[in-house]
Amino acid sequence: MTPFQRPNSAAARDVRHQMHPYTNPVAHEANGPMIVDRGEGVRVFDEDGKDYIEGLAGLWCTSLGFAAEERVARVAYDQLRRLGFYHPFGGKAHTPGIDLAEALIAMAPVPMSKVLFCNSGSEANDTAIKLIRFYNNALGRPEKKKIISRTKAYHGVTVASASLTGLPFNHRDFDLPMDGVLHTTCPHPYHFGAEGESPEDFATRCAEDLEALIQAEGPETIAAFFAEPVMGAGGVIVPPPTYFEKIQAVLKRHDILFVVDEVICGFGRTGNAWGCQTFGLQPDMIACAKQMSSGYLPIAALMLNERVYAPIRDNAGRIGMFGHGFTYGGHPVSCAVALEVLAIYKERDVFAHAAAVGPRLQQRLRGLADHPLVGETRGVGLIGGVELSRDKAARRPFDPAQGVGPAMGLHLHARGIITRVIGDTVAFSPPLVITEEEIDTMVDRVALALDDTLAWCR
Ligand code: PLP
Repeated sequence: MTPFQRPNSAAARDVRHQMHPYTNPVAHEANGPMIVDRGEGVRVFDEDGKDYIEGLAGLWCTSLGFAAEERVARVAYDQLRRLGFYHPFGGKAHTPGIDLAEALIAMAPVPMSKVLFCNSGSEANDTAIKLIRFYNNALGRPEKKKIISRTKAYHGVTVASASLTGLPFNHRDFDLPMDGVLHTTCPHPYHFGAEGESPEDFATRCAEDLEALIQAEGPETIAAFFAEPVMGAGGVIVPPPTYFEKIQAVLKRHDILFVVDEVICGFGRTGNAWGCQTFGLQPDMIACAKQMSSGYLPIAALMLNERVYAPIRDNAGRIGMFGHGFTYGGHPVSCAVALEVLAIYKERDVFAHAAAVGPRLQQRLRGLADHPLVGETRGVGLIGGVELSRDKAARRPFDPAQGVGPAMGLHLHARGIITRVIGDTVAFSPPLVITEEEIDTMVDRVALALDDTLAWCR
């Protein structure tokens, strides 16, 4: 039955009233929504009671599972009753915000000085761009404003953060990227590495490309470089060995700030608390969100080191005001819930659990590499990707018109797996609490969906 056959069904009302992000609206009006009704651990259930393993933790965020446990709900309830809203504007503060800022600074992978709360990863990255402008104006370098990110990066969807994002869907017909944002080589050896080139040599070439871009633009005009430790929404791209070491040397040479986007990798995803630790990164600013609250309530943070903070403080002091802030940034209920989630991470050693079961995910995904449809499997910790290929040896992607990626998505869905197929790459980023048995069940189902897709192709 289509959504239109019962006009008062939830599906019909959805189609009538709601515009969906990252959805083809024409197809949605024809097919209607999948209505997710409830969750339990790594699983969610649709309105008919069918269960799915959520292979992407929702949007790479629901680390502790899909029904928040009693103690988290209790903290939210108690905070709502005690102080249901307050803000940090005009020098005000509340205890959950103070405690969370302190906890983030204490656990930061490198020394950080201050936390500025926002509500989303996009806002955190957008805020970083504004602070970088303010910082360079404070230092009397108004020409040092351009920002470099990478092709296939994902940093969000506001005008500025979508400009950092390096994906065609986020730019096309939105008149983006905006001026002053440049993209350099994506560190994806599978596609951009040359024949016979070692991963380390490819990393050298990426750093050379960055250097060449900086020289072409003028180093005095380049303010900052943004990077995710593992590129998530671009297709789960793990940088080759030595990549970040070489990139960071270039940035240092030209006094370019390094902003690390830990929105996916932060809080245990790559086998350490931070992607910065997994890849040896020394950022000046860190954007984080998602797993900070297990995705239960919206909250994000931008951390900045003293080098960045001090000139901003002095300049804002001269102006008389730091003119930035979001109504809901550092919301007390979100802060209280995030603190409880961080407490659970610590008490149950959730990051160590993720590090312990991560190799099982990687090993099981590698086991799919011999499938005729699979070109490459890759990943680190509890994040992984399986890239489909039309021609394994030549690493040729499928023609998008063939619709193999979407077909794989449908077959996964039918087999009880929810995840995202990004182009030809099936992405995995399950809740951090997933067990080895659940990983096995998930990958067994993926193998069946690959067979279904192969049969569909023929
Ligand atoms: N940065 C990264 C690495 C992300 O993966 C995302 C979202 O997936 C964002 C930023 C944007 O976060 P939000 O959707 O909360 O604005």
